[in-house]
Amino acid sequence: MSRTKERLRSVIRILLEKFSYLGDWWPYEDTKEEIVITSILTQNTTWSRVEKAFKELKKHFGSINLEAIASCDLGEFENIIKTLGFFRSKAKTIKDVCELIVNRYGGFDKCLNLSLGEFRKELLSIKGIGEETADSILLYAFDMPSFVIDNYTIRILNRFLPSEFNKNRDYEVVKSLIEEFVKNVGKMKTLHGAFVEIGKNFCKSKSPVCSVCPLKEGCYTSQVQFLKRDLTSEYRETVSL
Ligand code: SF4
Repeated sequence: MSRTKERLRSVIRILLEKFSYLGDWWPYEDTKEEIVITSILTQNTTWSRVEKAFKELKKHFGSINLEAIASCDLGEFENIIKTLGFFRSKAKTIKDVCELIVNRYGGFDKCLNLSLGEFRKELLSIKGIGEETADSILLYAFDMPSFVIDNYTIRILNRFLPSEFNKNRDYEVVKSLIEEFVKNVGKMKTLHGAFVEIGKNFCKSKSPVCSVCPLKEGCYTSQVQFLKRDLTSEYRETVSL
């Protein structure tokens, strides 16, 4: 096994162990059908704005169901979510996804029997659906084993094993590397949640809080910071002698 894979396996093992309590992690209290919509609404915006749009959707449709959205008028749908940035493009993307699920495949339940490869390809062919959104829909709404790579995952891996991972590493490459070690849907959800928790609470974009991070033992960046601190204090001691 290559060094990259060995180190990646150790990150995954630590995260699954330390964050097992996250279970089928998903940050919102959504039904499966709502997850399809939330995955698109949350692109490039804050949760408070999504919440507002979500309330409007519930007011309009009662409960959110993909059939109702597929058959509603695009202009009407744009109007319901107009408090969101990019509401026109998001409305079109959501409608296209709902139409794919309802009109092409016969509804949410029928999609559960689709092949992952075919369904992913169809989702990715819709304008506004990138890899991360497609994988969120597949993993969290349809319980299909398609791991989600987000900015947190890339940042953490770049810092944990920088020589093996670099910023240009392709989404699909990182995804398939992780999927070599994690094939179970529940574990994929937990692992993705763990990357989000580490990214939000420890591995922050500007200043990582390595001293209390659960990954600090094997992390390259943490060790470099520790060495720098050590050398600086040694230098200060020498100067003050
Ligand atoms: S130890 Fe530091 S750099 Fe490494 S993953 Fe944790 S917060 Fe990020």
